[in-house]
Amino acid sequence: MLDEKLEPIFADVLRRNPGEDEFHQAVREVLDCIGAVIAKNPDYAEGALIERICEPERQIIFRVPWVDDKGNVQINRGFRVQFNSALGPYKGGLRFHPTVLLGTVKFLGFEQVFKNALTGMPIGGGKGGSDFDPKGRSEGEIMRFCQSFMTELFRHLGEHTDVPAGDIGVGQREVGFMFGQYKRMTNRYESGVLTGKGLMWGGSRVRTEATGYGAVYFVERMLRTRNQEFEGKRVIVSGSGNVAVYTIEKVHQLGGRVIACSDSDGYVVEEAGHGIDLPLLKEIKEKKRGRIADYAKARGAGAIYVPGGRIWDVPADIAMPSATQNELTGHDARTLIKNGVMAVGEGANMPCTPEAVRAFLDAGVLFAPGKAANAGGVATSALEMQQNASRDSWSFEATEKRLATIMHGIHDRCAEMAETYGSPGNYVLGANVAGFIRVAEAMRSLGVV
Ligand code: NDP
Repeated sequence: MLDEKLEPIFADVLRRNPGEDEFHQAVREVLDCIGAVIAKNPDYAEGALIERICEPERQIIFRVPWVDDKGNVQINRGFRVQFNSALGPYKGGLRFHPTVLLGTVKFLGFEQVFKNALTGMPIGGGKGGSDFDPKGRSEGEIMRFCQSFMTELFRHLGEHTDVPAGDIGVGQREVGFMFGQYKRMTNRYESGVLTGKGLMWGGSRVRTEATGYGAVYFVERMLRTRNQEFEGKRVIVSGSGNVAVYTIEKVHQLGGRVIACSDSDGYVVEEAGHGIDLPLLKEIKEKKRGRIADYAKARGAGAIYVPGGRIWDVPADIAMPSATQNELTGHDARTLIKNGVMAVGEGANMPCTPEAVRAFLDAGVLFAPGKAANAGGVATSALEMQQNASRDSWSFEATEKRLATIMHGIHDRCAEMAETYGSPGNYVLGANVAGFIRVAEAMRSLGVV
């Protein structure tokens, strides 16, 4: 039930943003959690503060024309939603996937505002992307698309204005092509304008690993509250992209065993030995840009490939959804609970449906929301910006140590807020309240903005 002061605000969000279901879902989750904050501090409901938080500062939509390898002209749509800059320059990734619509980018941008606030770092929230599908495209096509995308977007960016990074379909290669074009368009070597760069040209150590590693650090800390650890646990990780791969790596380093991972075509299960063979997975996914079916084939008899199946049917102690939004439903949650899952950590953004989240919380399963658990990526992006600003480059060990400290800090802040607002152990409440208070305080200080 929504607080009565928040009901008309949500009704307005529905009315003014028709058809944007994912955006509605993201807003609803935050509003559901902040009722207790408003009750304690009614000032937060004054001056249309919450209405302003739900409205992006700026939404940019543009045409991206490019020429494919056959000489045909292709058209895609580009987006950048600059959601909130009360805490710093807009910061958040770019997603290239055929399902990207304005509502997708708005949901991601809205989430990003609170996530970035939770890190405690000076970064506002934004998100962008395109409905471009990189799958099956040649390197030349990817480059031409990225150059055309940046030819329009560059005018809206800047190290003190808006700093994009990667997301689904955008990794170091794409960031490189976009940075190259930004440099040409502006005639400036402005390292801090994009993060997720290569190590040779201004990138930070640990940025590639940061989201996955950070999610595992968060879950590790959460497990500790029940005197549990990763050692000896069976873990399933959905997806097999950047977040999934480095989640698997850190789980293995901590003595857990990842027994299944996936892509949008199916999943693979490996019960024997150490579970998923990470060097082979990296070789196939990162170097050859192959599929999970190729991985399963290369592994032979020990690996079972299930085309089109639901990875959540695999019994496990810990689940880390790390692919995409709403990939884990209420039905999947009940299956995982029946099979004895003890903890769920969201590596992706909003991968569990509201029904699934409710099921986990009701069953007493430890649940780490993406807003908090996957904040390690953007936090390390902020560390990359710090290194760029000081023309410095830190060691892997020093950077990873900072990431671990940041993730533990986020965990503890969420736990403390959950306790303060009467729901100990509810990290969803804790994350939303902690993020909201920081954004709300900053916005109040800045006047009517
Ligand atoms: P990648 O593109 O590297 O990997 C995405 C993975 O998810 C792939 O295995 C992909 O499979 C799968 N996937 C994507 N869309 C779908 C879909 N519609 N259905 C099923 N599977 C799908 O992306 P990332 O690893 O960077 O991002 C994964 C998630 O983590 C996203 O939610 C992203 O927003 C979030 N995130 C990422 C951060 C980062 O630093 N990269 C930071 C914080 C959050 P396939 O190849 O078949 O499409």
